[in-house]
Amino acid sequence: MADKIYVVLDHNQEKIRPASLEALAAGQQMAAQTGREVHAVLLGRDLSAVAQQASGFQLASVITVENEKLAEYDPDYFTAALASRLDSDQPQIVLFAHTYQNIDLLPKLAAALRKALVTECVGFRKDDSGSLVFVRPMFRNKLNADVRVQSDFPWLISVQGGAFSADSLVQGSAPVVSQKADLDSVQSRRRTVETVPAAKGKVDLSRAEIIIGVGRGIRKPENLQIVRELADALRAEIGASRPVVDNDWLERERQIGSSGQTVNPKLYIACGISGAIQHLVGMKNSGCIVAINTDSNAPIFNIATFGIVGDLMEVVPALTKKIREQNG
Ligand SMILES: Cc1cc2nc3c(=O)[nH]c(=O)nc-3n(C[C@H](O)[C@H](O)[C@H](O)COP(=O)(O)OP(=O)(O)OC[C@H]3O[C@@H](n4cnc5c(N)ncnc54)[C@H](O)[C@@H]3O)c2cc1C
Repeated sequence: MADKIYVVLDHNQEKIRPASLEALAAGQQMAAQTGREVHAVLLGRDLSAVAQQASGFQLASVITVENEKLAEYDPDYFTAALASRLDSDQPQIVLFAHTYQNIDLLPKLAAALRKALVTECVGFRKDDSGSLVFVRPMFRNKLNADVRVQSDFPWLISVQGGAFSADSLVQGSAPVVSQKADLDSVQSRRRTVETVPAAKGKVDLSRAEIIIGVGRGIRKPENLQIVRELADALRAEIGASRPVVDNDWLERERQIGSSGQTVNPKLYIACGISGAIQHLVGMKNSGCIVAINTDSNAPIFNIATFGIVGDLMEVVPALTKKIREQNG
């Protein structure tokens, strides 16, 4: 029997989460390059809808692991259900999307299994000996590290959003294998008091033709005024990287990236944004990308159409002045 790759999919009972489809694409590519077979794994209750969606891809099988206690995410139940499945099925590699849920789950699962965990992978390749090497960014995306896992299988790997494209998923027709999880002896130490859906914002950046993205390089909220003036002159919307939103300098609904909005304006001006993959995934399909950054090595310049190495406090007002002159 061929060696196995498992891809554990996050879902909302009706649909597989987009980040997990990207992890599935990574799994298919890894399987094609290493001669392993790839299986999807779904945990939950009443999984027929998501199992049907998963079975539409080219996979060796879709394994559903059902139990009433898996209806909502719970780290104790999810760890127990997965640990027992992995123990008995012995896959070599287990892929997950790098979602908040899996950031919570994976260290616990790795500790329970006493196996290796490599997080936030953006790529992989085979080295000269045929072993897999995983690529993950370090130091705020300034470096990429090659990680070789030394321990026994299974290796747990989380895949960064935006690193693989769900568009590359190969369609197919996979059999569904239903399993029941035995969780009778497992105690949950967590109680969910309330689940609050994220508020839907009023700002719809997905329709904006011009967006000025503001990053941590703006340094303080008072400095946003120069960006507002440029936005006025260009009739643009203002978007933000996550630190700007986390600092409450701009509203959450303006966040662009893997945990914010996905935008594709004709023009995106990135001001003081380094270009972390979680931001790029939300704006890389913009028509023209202008990046303003003091650091000539900032990754944003790798995808920029035009790059301006300079202080945004000088460049942005100069741009506004020029545009106002042009507008008359
Ligand atoms: C699960 C997860 C989800 C995430 N989701 C998102 C998301 O949806 N969106 C998102 O944006 N991030 C997201 N992040 C965070 C992401 O990893 C980065 O930390 C973030 O994008 C960095 O934001 P930044 O570029 O503004 O800040 P930094 O990385 O700190 O970059 C600031 C940049 O400003 C430049 N700079 C400084 N001063 C100036 C100046 N005066 N003029 C010009 N340039 C200057 C610096 O050279 C630097 O390049 C997520 C992270 C995780 C783990």
